Amino acid sequence: MIDPFGRAITYLRVSVTDRCDLRCVYCMAEDMHFLPKAELLSLEELYRVCAAFMRLGTRKLRITGGEPLVRRDVMSLFRGLGSRIGEGLDEVTLTTNGTLLDRHAADLFAAGVRRVNVSLDTLDPARFAAITRWGKIEKTLEGIFAAKTAGLAVKINAVALKGVNEHEFDTMLAWCGEHGFDLCLIETMPLGAIDGDRADQYLPLSLVRARLRQTWTLEETGYRTGGPARYFTVAETGHRIGFITPLTHNFCESCNRVRLTCTGTLYMCLGQDDQADLRQTLRSGASDEALEAAIRAAIARKPKGHDFIIDRRHTQPALERHMSVTGG
Ligand code: SAM
Ligand code: SF4
Repeated sequence: MIDPFGRAITYLRVSVTDRCDLRCVYCMAEDMHFLPKAELLSLEELYRVCAAFMRLGTRKLRITGGEPLVRRDVMSLFRGLGSRIGEGLDEVTLTTNGTLLDRHAADLFAAGVRRVNVSLDTLDPARFAAITRWGKIEKTLEGIFAAKTAGLAVKINAVALKGVNEHEFDTMLAWCGEHGFDLCLIETMPLGAIDGDRADQYLPLSLVRARLRQTWTLEETGYRTGGPARYFTVAETGHRIGFITPLTHNFCESCNRVRLTCTGTLYMCLGQDDQADLRQTLRSGASDEALEAAIRAAIARKPKGHDFIIDRRHTQPALERHMSVTGG
């Protein structure tokens, strides 16, 4: 599928639930109202949409949420999708907070998953509890090491938060190097209402990178994922560090992805509201051809770039929906 700006759309991110067992301060309000079950696509419906995307040229699927591993029987979806690897599909990956990963790591590997992104914003137990509102770092660390033992490549995702974890990145980079993980730092994005003020949290990664360079040798790499991350190799560890700066525009031109929410809404851009309701298509008894036509029509409307408000003083979210709905 080629969009109106000549970009091949080969990457689908799929949120399988809006629910989560944590409440990270930058992601959710403490008192979240989750969707009634009937509004979610069933695992069979999710598979059907993924299969249609695969027929249309999707090569990479990432399962996300909410916390994907809290969805009941989600492993059956991984097994189904994993069985398609090699038939045009290159990989199935997962983004998780890691709390349930120790239980599922071996099964994920058996299903064909080879890489996982685990969110870990700090190595300090008390800070972890504060950021996630009630999480226990031990669970996430157990999950991370279970994934490593199972043979999964691990990338650690950390959201850079001003005054919270900003002085930990040296330690985290060393820890990742020691254990063989890549590290990806993420700028906060203005998505969904949270309890605090986002302007207080915003930390530009240009500053973080300059600070890291005082200690580490960051070598430019051509490594790209088609997303907003810029990667460097850390000469001292041999592993990569990525910087995700979603508020800059310079990545939109190579954007290769669209996002499916757990309710079957297809967003053509993380930072725009235009969408296509694939659940309605599915539940109206559409044929595979009609489903593919609905997807094609949506891709034909993929916008050139996002509209995030760059004014850092803005306290209102640029978009109403939370990251946990669209899938991070
Ligand atoms: N629960 C899983 C997890 O935490 O990895 C998957 C979903 S989570 C929404 C995906 C990623 O989005 C996480 O790395 C999280 O830190 C990041 N994220 C959530 N809200 C964000 C925000 N407002 N700005 C930047 N990143 C955010
Ligand atoms: Fe849950 Fe992930 Fe959002 Fe944290 S970032 S609240 S773990 S969905």
